[in-house]
Amino acid sequence: MEDFVTKKTTTPHVVIFPLPIQGPVNCMLKLAHLILSLSRATVSVTFLTTTSIHNRLVRHSNAAARLVHSYPNFRFETVSDGLVEHDDGDAQGALKLVESTIALERQAQEEGSKLRAVLGHGSAEPELMTPVTCVLADGFYGCMVDVAKELRVPLVYIETISPCGLWTYLCVPNMVRARDLPFQDDEEGLDASITSVPGMETYLRRRDLPSFCHAYDPNNPVIQLVLKEAQEFPKAQGHILNTFDELEGDYFAHIRALCPNLYNIGPLHLNLKSRIQQETTKSISNSLWQEDRSCLAWLDAQPPKSVLFVSIGSLASMTKDQLMEIWHGLINSKSRFLWVRRPGSIINKDEDTSQDDLEMIPDDLVEGTKKRGCIVSWAPQEEVLAHGAIGGFLTHCGWNSTLESIVEGVPMICWPFYVDQQVNSRVVSEVWKIGLDMNKDNCTRVVVEELIKELMETRRDEFSKRADKMAKLAAQAVAEDGSSYNSLNHLIDDIVSMRFSI
Ligand code: UDP
Repeated sequence: MEDFVTKKTTTPHVVIFPLPIQGPVNCMLKLAHLILSLSRATVSVTFLTTTSIHNRLVRHSNAAARLVHSYPNFRFETVSDGLVEHDDGDAQGALKLVESTIALERQAQEEGSKLRAVLGHGSAEPELMTPVTCVLADGFYGCMVDVAKELRVPLVYIETISPCGLWTYLCVPNMVRARDLPFQDDEEGLDASITSVPGMETYLRRRDLPSFCHAYDPNNPVIQLVLKEAQEFPKAQGHILNTFDELEGDYFAHIRALCPNLYNIGPLHLNLKSRIQQETTKSISNSLWQEDRSCLAWLDAQPPKSVLFVSIGSLASMTKDQLMEIWHGLINSKSRFLWVRRPGSIINKDEDTSQDDLEMIPDDLVEGTKKRGCIVSWAPQEEVLAHGAIGGFLTHCGWNSTLESIVEGVPMICWPFYVDQQVNSRVVSEVWKIGLDMNKDNCTRVVVEELIKELMETRRDEFSKRADKMAKLAAQAVAEDGSSYNSLNHLIDDIVSMRFSI
């Protein structure tokens, strides 16, 4: 055991290494901003990402440029993941993420690679090399425990999926031992209870597990990454979670027992807003797509709490059939709606349905959309959710979207696709009771219409009341002396004093 005190002669220098997708990049740029600002720039930060993510940040957002401009000790380092670079529409997707993760992990383990040099020294250029005193890496990079040990650099994992999702990942080996995985071929089907995820026994069902559990195959590359994460994650010197103490339930004590050096600093975006002057953060965007801000003016013209915001995030895609079911459900519900249709998010591209070819669509959908809807390709989501006209969010339940909705007190209709989204949707509906779960694989127009009416009309007050209460708890957590406020201070202190040991 080498105490980190040996590196105390150097300046604190953190390398931040997110997964190359919107959610983690967004979160970790915010964390970089907080570290730089709250440490009064005594900590140097190197942000390590792929060339294609960096190019897209430069093209579509201003956060990267602002950080570089405001903090001389902030730098980007980029590496190629070796995959063919596509245009913005094709550059994402879950499959691409898995390939990219595997490629980046391979480079991290390869002696002499640029990525490994950045992890160990902040750069591959001898004149720019400075000792790295801590790596903050996404929890999905299971290889980082060994890599950091070889480089003799402390590792703090930052998990950008939800703690409840993380806990199901960490319990995969347990579920296999208990024969909850693979699913038994029995009469109970997807409604069967899962009892081998401690703390969630009363509400977790097969259908609430991540999609890779549904056809469990230990040779599947995603399962291999998850199994590696389950084994390695607890071994890091510290763990950062984007949550706040008051949000978490019974299972959380188990995570804490495995990872005692835990920093709950969420909701990260709210922590940033409250710690760094509002004026500075208001117009900052970390988007990988061009935001269409015209939807804010459209929202200005709508009555309070009348609009359902619809988005499935940055990775998920839907089929043309699903698109039509959602669309009919929206129109039949008579609700107003703001719908993000990300380029490339409709699976069969030839059949992609953009605003331009509305004439191919049944008249009632076209008319209803003109009267009550607004469709954009990418929205400034945090600002949208904060807008007074928003009354509900039909979401895929990605963790960032879920937290952003919680912060603004917006009740949700959950239509999860994969990763942590299934379990998030269960917790939103069953534990926090601030939304409705679309029963995962049952996205028909009738279901969509009924759920929208339930959320926006018949049970609106009930959901709003609980969502408002939760939003208040989030605000308290990041306010002075709140749990996440203190946890963030603690993290920064530990980074500044280089208190992590390897
Ligand atoms: N987002 C956005 N504009 C959009 C849709 C999404 O800025 O039109 C942002 C959203 O605010 C969130 C992120 O993209 O921060 C999506 O992350 P999440 O974890 O919800 O889902 P993922 O994209 O990883 O599936």
